[in-house]
Amino acid sequence: MRFVILGGGPAGHQAATYAARLGAEVTVVERDVLGGAAHLWDCIPSKAMIATGGAMSFTRRVSGMGLEHAEAGVDIEALTTRIEDIKAHLQRDIIQLLDSQGVRIVNGVGRFTSPHTVLVDGPEGTEEIEFDTALVSTGSRPRVPDWCTPDGDRILTTRDCYPPKSFPESVTVVGSGVTGVEFVHMFSSFGAEVTLVVSRQHVLPGKDPEVAGVLEDDFVARGVKLLKGARAERIDRDPDGDGVIVRCDDGRSVRSSHAVLAIGSVPNTESLGLDAAGVVTDGGYIPINHHCVTNQKHIYAAGDVSGKLPLSSVASMQGRKVAEHVMGLHTIEHRHLDYDKAASAIFTEPEIADVGLAEAEAFAEGRKIRVTKVPFATTAKAQINNDPRGFVKIISDPATGVVLGGSIVGRHAAELISVIALAVTANLRVNDIVESLLVHPALSEALAEAAE
Ligand SMILES: Cc1cc2nc3c(=O)[nH]c(=O)nc-3n(C[C@H](O)[C@H](O)[C@H](O)COP(=O)(O)OP(=O)(O)OC[C@H]3O[C@@H](n4cnc5c(N)ncnc54)[C@H](O)[C@@H]3O)c2cc1C
Repeated sequence: MRFVILGGGPAGHQAATYAARLGAEVTVVERDVLGGAAHLWDCIPSKAMIATGGAMSFTRRVSGMGLEHAEAGVDIEALTTRIEDIKAHLQRDIIQLLDSQGVRIVNGVGRFTSPHTVLVDGPEGTEEIEFDTALVSTGSRPRVPDWCTPDGDRILTTRDCYPPKSFPESVTVVGSGVTGVEFVHMFSSFGAEVTLVVSRQHVLPGKDPEVAGVLEDDFVARGVKLLKGARAERIDRDPDGDGVIVRCDDGRSVRSSHAVLAIGSVPNTESLGLDAAGVVTDGGYIPINHHCVTNQKHIYAAGDVSGKLPLSSVASMQGRKVAEHVMGLHTIEHRHLDYDKAASAIFTEPEIADVGLAEAEAFAEGRKIRVTKVPFATTAKAQINNDPRGFVKIISDPATGVVLGGSIVGRHAAELISVIALAVTANLRVNDIVESLLVHPALSEALAEAAE
């Protein structure tokens, strides 16, 4: 089986290693970094910066922990080196893994020239590769609207921020979805004055309003200004200074040293020669079935190009499912991907994570559910940590006790949600959580209590 993969991000490299292990002859075509542009340029550096910012805000909070004084300042150079080191380390690991599985790596820009050929334009010339099966996993890039021109200096897309060339004294973040609120959190932990342009009345549209409310309260307590019900319609460099002016459709405007656009992404599909392969797109995304097969039965699409959930974790799992299907394993004991059961997290402070059915969604569907909520403040560990913020909420079926979903707000939410995610995926009952012998003292005790 000659399997060609365009794009070596989480979707592409996962499909490559797994298919190679199963016996396919795999070639990965990558134009930039193995590991994925979105993954290595966005996801990983943003979390590395958030971790450093988190350490800074932690030092501000430790005064209640029997310490006299702790204050940290940011060293941009050291931070940049740290981020580069993490990226290099991850990229090296991925290359080693692909090499060890016998995957051929071709450096260059790939595009289809027919339903069974790809042409790669690389630093060493062009190469035509024939394939039996192909995967398109070319990812996405930040969306840039026609009303502003990012300059990489003061008007930034998410990719210019790790860290920015000059560190913001003040920053206006446009977009209050997951990425936007993470940027608010990141820059405010570093001490910048932050304004968030929120087009609706609440941040995080589509998330549990109670969860979004906790985050808003935290932002307000930190001095973040929320410009609610306003849509940015223009961003210009300030003619009277070094900064920028963000103008909104309701007449309000904000001056700050920097502006960050966090208004979503667009798929990298326009120069892939998809027409030559007969693959159709819809709004730039590639429609797929539950095996990630496109309208061409020998060509798959996975990751951000598929227009499903734009998450690294989902891209990797899609890549794995593609490898299984390519190698005919899907007929054995393998689950279909259920995007409704994907856990996701927002790396703010407090951290937010959720999975499965949301309370508001069940309410809208008129579905009967049991909701139990336990604040972390009831656990000894929260007191020990000097951080009683947040809660665990579990949603279950009142008749069977089967866990349908949940959300967690608070420290380590992104880790703790795994317990509820496992329960949702494996159709476990609340009792299965209650009867697990968990650690004491630990925040997970709130999980067991919420399952009671
Ligand atoms: C700011 C930010 C933070 C994020 N944080 C998280 C997070 O915390 N957790 C999470 O799960 N997700 C996060 N995401 C989303 C995550 O990064 C993406 O969903 C994920 O990287 C998608 O993987 P992919 O394999 O589809 O694409 P990518 O990771 O983008 O990889 C695609 C690869 O294809 C290559 N390519 C493109 N065109 C061609 C071509 N013609 N020829 C050859 N190669 C090509 C690109 O160079 C790239 O390396 C974040 C995204 C952003 C923007």
